[in-house]
Amino acid sequence: MKIEENYSLKEHNTFHLSVKARWFIEYCNEEELCCILHDEYFQECISLHIGSGSNLLFLNDYNGIILHSAIRGITVVEETDDTVLLHVGAAEKWDGVVAYAVARGWGGVENLSFIPGEAGAAAVQNIGAYGTEVKDVIETVEAFNQLSFEKKVFSNQECCYSYRSSFFKNENNDPHIVTYINIRLRKHFQLNLSYKELQKELLHFDNPGLQSVRDAVILLRRHKLPDPEVLGNAGSFFMNPIIAVSHFESLKDEYPNIPFYLLGNDQVKLSAGWLIEQCGFKGKSHGAVGVYEKQALVLVNLGDATGDEIAMVAESIRMAVNDRFGIMLMPEVKYVG
Ligand SMILES: Cc1cc2nc3c(=O)[nH]c(=O)nc-3n(C[C@H](O)[C@H](O)[C@H](O)COP(=O)(O)OP(=O)(O)OC[C@H]3O[C@@H](n4cnc5c(N)ncnc54)[C@H](O)[C@@H]3O)c2cc1C
Repeated sequence: MKIEENYSLKEHNTFHLSVKARWFIEYCNEEELCCILHDEYFQECISLHIGSGSNLLFLNDYNGIILHSAIRGITVVEETDDTVLLHVGAAEKWDGVVAYAVARGWGGVENLSFIPGEAGAAAVQNIGAYGTEVKDVIETVEAFNQLSFEKKVFSNQECCYSYRSSFFKNENNDPHIVTYINIRLRKHFQLNLSYKELQKELLHFDNPGLQSVRDAVILLRRHKLPDPEVLGNAGSFFMNPIIAVSHFESLKDEYPNIPFYLLGNDQVKLSAGWLIEQCGFKGKSHGAVGVYEKQALVLVNLGDATGDEIAMVAESIRMAVNDRFGIMLMPEVKYVG
């Protein structure tokens, strides 16, 4: 177990904000995690479990305990003619899991290539891209209840997945720490090429298979998203808003080119990036905070921005979008502090 005091989190958040944690604790296995959870000092402190910090916005130093898992490993626990079940430690890099699956010809996660972060967080966030969400392959999630200290294996249904959300993100539930995820992949699969952008990119590949889908997704993502190692960011800052069809129809009269995706249940999903772009923010900066020039949904740290400054720019974007479209964007990024 690693325990550090007044520990810099600069390399533990992809905005690369210069904040510190009062305590940083990294555990290597479930036994060590149990010891931490039972500790009285730990119970008195505020605490936050992080992965790679690619979806976090630290507003200031964290005056509590930041927990991080070092539980790694990818194991095949079940194999049939059609499927394999992988047991994955929460601290495995998500993209490493995708690479592992694609290299063995197992389908289901290739569209989720190159998403930063760790496997445990992927299951918490229900990460998604190019028409696939991690919930589509999650069989079970193994997690410890932070209050009762009990371990539970959550079925996919018990994870209550929805767009970028899950049981683990719902603050009305007891806090849980994910230690392992179990994902079921297919040996006989159908590629999910529902996204036009991906279809178009695959025209450059002969007989597309899992590896070419992965390569195409990586190319697309490299082209349109900034590399956090070069330009601090947390990917999409806001969620794509879901609105009622009636509201959408009135917007469509005024903005005939508005991109949309029909969801059923009389709901429509809009592109938050498009809404922000219409309000004139794309490529603009305020101090050290920028709105990425190729994708208005991404806020970037141009140098020495603070979390407060990023939050202020985010708020002015929210206000502008609400004034113009009557839609209040919700952050996808989690504010801490
Ligand atoms: C360039 C870029 C592109 C991105 N593209 C996408 C995309 O296409 N699709 C998408 O969905 N997301 C995307 N993201 C967002 C991000 O990659 C995901 O949300 C990712 O799952 C976060 O993983 P993390 O390990 O960094 O988690 P963190 O940001 O550290 O934490 C995220 C949340 O998970 C919780 N958490 C972390 N680990 C655990 C654990 N073991 N147990 C319980 N709770 C835990 C944290 O408390 C927090 O609430 C992108 C981010 C970047 C920077």
